[in-house]
Amino acid sequence: MVQTIQNISVIGAGTMGNGIAHLFAQNGFKVDLIDVSQPQLDKALATISINLDRQLLKGTITEEAKLSCLQNISTNTSLAAGVKNAQLVIEAATENEDLKLKIFKDIDETAPADCILATNTSSISITKIAAATNRPSNVIGMHFMNPVPVMKLVEVINGYATAKDVTQTIIELCRKLNKVPCEVNDYPGFIANRILMPMINEAIYSLYEGVAGVEEIDTVMKLGMAHPMGPLQLADFIGLDVCHSILKVLYDGFGNPKYAPCPLLSNMVAAGFLGVKSGAGFYKYAAGSKELVVSERIV
Ligand code: NAD
Repeated sequence: MVQTIQNISVIGAGTMGNGIAHLFAQNGFKVDLIDVSQPQLDKALATISINLDRQLLKGTITEEAKLSCLQNISTNTSLAAGVKNAQLVIEAATENEDLKLKIFKDIDETAPADCILATNTSSISITKIAAATNRPSNVIGMHFMNPVPVMKLVEVINGYATAKDVTQTIIELCRKLNKVPCEVNDYPGFIANRILMPMINEAIYSLYEGVAGVEEIDTVMKLGMAHPMGPLQLADFIGLDVCHSILKVLYDGFGNPKYAPCPLLSNMVAAGFLGVKSGAGFYKYAAGSKELVVSERIV
C-alpha cells in the first residue's frame, strides 16, 4: 500500500542535506534536519535562507512562502531525537560506507517501525546499507542531484530486497515534489554516476597527462557537447572527495581498472583541495565572487 508521508528527517546538513531540507519544507513537509555538527546546521539554515531570498528576488516565491518554508524546518544534533516521529528518513551524510552502515543500524533502532529509510548515496550499495537494518524491504535509494531545489531528476534505486509498495510510495512522493523519478536497480554507480564519473575522471587524466589546461578541457565540453558546465568545474561543484569515493566504489564493484581514480584526483583530495566547499579545486572560489579563476597547482 502506498503510504502518505508528511514528516521527514534528513541526516547530514551539508551540500545535499540543506537542499533536500529546503525542497521538502518548501513543499509543506515538516523536516527535522540532523547533523553531528551544530555549525553545519547553522550554516545549512543560513544557506537555505539565502537560496530562498534568491527565489524571492526572482519572484518565484512570496515572503510568506519563505517564512513558512523556514518554519517547517527544525534542527537536531541527536539522531534518536531527530528521527523519532519520521515517516521517511533521508540520509545525506558523508559518502563513507562504514559511516552509513552505522547510521542505518542506529536509525533502524530508533525510527518508527513503518518508517521508510532512504539514502542519497551517490554510489554505495543500497542492498548493503539495507542489510545493516532489520527492515531491508523498507530501505531504498533516493539520489537527488545538486542543487536539489533546481534539478528535476531523482534516481530511485531499488535494493535487492526493496518492497514494491515502498518504491511506489517514493515515486509518488517525488512527483508531489515536482521531480522526475527514474527507477533503477542497485549496481555500482547506478546510472548517473556510472556514466558521469568516468567522464570526469577522463577529464582529470587529460589534465594530468598535459593534453590541455583546465579551461581548455572545460571549454571543449561546454561548447563542443553543449554541457552547461565543464567536467572539471562540475567535479569542483560535486566535491572532489565525493568524486574520488564514487570512483573507488565503481573500481571495487566492477573490479575493472578503467574506473581507477586518476592519481591527480587522489593527490588533490589528500591535500584538501575539495572544490567549492573547501574554497579551491580545479578553480578558486572566493566568497561572494562569481568569477571563475583557475587554481595554480603543479600537476
Ligand atoms: P557534505 O560533505 O557536504 O556533507 C555531509 C554532512 O554529513 C556534513 O555536514 C557532516 O557533518 C554530516 N555528517 C557526517 N557524519 C554524520 C553523522 N554520523 N550523522 C549526521 N551527520 C553527519 O556531503 P554532500 O556532498 O552533501 O554529500 C552527502 C551525500 O549525498 C553523500 O552520500 C553523497 O555521495 C551524496 N550526493 C552528493 C552529491 C553532490 O553533488 N555533492 C550529489 C548527489 C548525492
